Amino acid sequence: MTSDLHTHSTISDGILTPRELVNQAAAAGVTYLSLTDHDSTDGLPEAQAAAADHPGLTLIPGIEISTDVAEGEAHILGYLFDVENAELQATLESFRDDRVGRARRMVQNLERLGVPVTWERVVEIAGQGAIGRPHIAQALMEAGHVPSIREAFDRYIGNFGPAYAGRRKMAPEEAIRLIRQYGGLPVLAHPDETPGLEAMLPALAGAGLAGMEVDYGLYPAELRARFRALADQYGLLALGGSDYHGPGRAADCPLGGSQTPPEAGERLLAAHQDAARSLG
Ligand code: AMP
Ligand code: ZN
Ligand code: FE
Ligand code: FE
Repeated sequence: MTSDLHTHSTISDGILTPRELVNQAAAAGVTYLSLTDHDSTDGLPEAQAAAADHPGLTLIPGIEISTDVAEGEAHILGYLFDVENAELQATLESFRDDRVGRARRMVQNLERLGVPVTWERVVEIAGQGAIGRPHIAQALMEAGHVPSIREAFDRYIGNFGPAYAGRRKMAPEEAIRLIRQYGGLPVLAHPDETPGLEAMLPALAGAGLAGMEVDYGLYPAELRARFRALADQYGLLALGGSDYHGPGRAADCPLGGSQTPPEAGERLLAAHQDAARSLG
C-alpha cells in the first residue's frame, strides 16, 4: 500500500488517460491517488468514475500550478479545492490559453535554430491536453532532431535552453492564496527543483502553504530527511508522489513508486477537514 499524490494524465502532458491512470494505480497498490494535471481539473470526472471500480482506492482531486521565482520555477500543487467554482475555472482557462502562445513561440524558436517541428503536429500530440513542453519534445523526437525527450530539454527547451519561451506566471504566494481562496490545501512540489527554497519558505508558509513533497519521485533518503526536517520546522504536511507522466521514460519514477506512505493521503484528508471546520 502506498499513496501517490502527484500524477499527470492526457489532460495535461501525461500519456495515460485519467481512467488508465486510475486503473494502473489501483493495480500498483495505490490507496490514495491524486490526479494533479497542469492547469486543469478536466480529468477529474473520468478519474472519479474509474475510481468507483476500485473500492481500495481513494481519489483526491488536485492540480499543479507553475509559478515564477528568481532563477526558475516553483510548482504549487493544490488539493481538495472547490473544483466547480466558475471563477477558479476561468483563471485556469487563462493559464491554459497562455500555454498556447508560449508553445507557439518555442516552435518558432526551433525553426530559427534549424530544428523545425510543425505546429499542427504539436497540437495533435497535445490532443485535448493543456499544451506543454513534453509535447514539443515529442515532436522534436519524431522529427529525428533528438533521440530522447530528455535531450530535447537538455539541448533546446529546458529552462535555459535556446528555444525556451516563458509565460507570465504568478508568484508562488499568489498560487498559494488562490488555492486557499477556493478551500484547498496548497503544497510545494519537488522542493529540490525549487531554487532558493530555504530563503523562500518563511514567506510561503506565511502565505498559507500547507505541505511540502518529501517522499517525491526517486529522491534519495538524505534528501527526504532534509525536506522532512524542513516540513517539521514550518509545520507543513509531509506528502509526495511519483509525478508520473506515463510509461516510456525509463529514468522516471513508476506510478506508485515514490514510497509515499498511505498515511500521507490520510493526513491530507484530515487536514482538509480541520481547515474546513476552522473556517466554520
Ligand atoms: P511546461 O509546463 O510546459 O513548462 O513543461 C514542464 C513539464 O516538462 C514538467 O512537468 C515535466 O513533465 C517536463 N520536464 C521539465 N524538465 C524536463 C527535463 N529536463 N526532462 C524531461 N522532462 C522535463
Ligand atoms: Zn508535466
Ligand atoms: Fe512540476
Ligand atoms: Fe508534476
